[in-house]
Amino acid sequence: MTEMLSFENVELYYDHVYALKGVSIAMNEGETVALIGANGAGKSSILRAITGLAPIRSGRIRFMGEKLDGMSAPDIVRKGIAMVPEGRRVFPYMTVKDNLLMGAFTRSDKAGIASTLDSVLTRFPRLKERYGQTAGTLSGGEQQMMVIGRALMAKPRLLLLDEPSLGIAPKLVQDIARSIVAISRDEKVTVLLVEQNSRMALSISDRAYAMSTGSVVLSGNSKDLIRDDRIKAAYLGGD
Ligand code: ATP
Repeated sequence: MTEMLSFENVELYYDHVYALKGVSIAMNEGETVALIGANGAGKSSILRAITGLAPIRSGRIRFMGEKLDGMSAPDIVRKGIAMVPEGRRVFPYMTVKDNLLMGAFTRSDKAGIASTLDSVLTRFPRLKERYGQTAGTLSGGEQQMMVIGRALMAKPRLLLLDEPSLGIAPKLVQDIARSIVAISRDEKVTVLLVEQNSRMALSISDRAYAMSTGSVVLSGNSKDLIRDDRIKAAYLGGD
């Protein structure tokens, strides 16, 4: 197994807010790993640290053995890391097609881009139906599929998903969950999933880290964690 990503004792501050208090995590190529925890626990900060959007104060982030911290955000994308941001940042006045193509901004292989676009549209037929429509007219669930599709357009090795189920109708959450499983299987992409919906996250991931106020408090195989009493009490609503 090849280690893809690691955090060694990473600390991150926003001015005086101590958001990551010495976080160490590791994930192997091909895994789906979930980060669970309450609002403000530091999950998004981990993703921001990976993508270079928030500089770390100390520690080390490695991707495929290479130091990632300190690298520019576009260079990080070029390394093969794509992010699906929280809140479905779509370009509302652009068409679905143009939103998707934005995801390929680091690529110049026209034939390759066309073939990735084809596979995204096959995976999400709703996007094909709404291809020429402006993104602002899509439902929340469709927008979420579109931003996942947009990230796939970069042909990432590591896909970061920030709260894909947030604000999505409950019956669509299952569709999103199934899509994530299918993407990791078919595209051989490694997935780091940030979710407040811990049940969903644990049900589709191989391993998980549970976070609280800037620290990892528990980690393990997701199928064990979902039965763990401490996880049940703190992250699964006690049932
Ligand atoms: P959420 O689900 O709300 O995204 P989270 O677990 O992802 O929660 P983070 O967004 O990583 O948590 O936030 C960690 C801490 O850092 C919180 O206390 C938050 O209020 C604080 N924080 C996040 N972004 C900023 C910022 N830009 N400026 C100041 N404090 C911030």
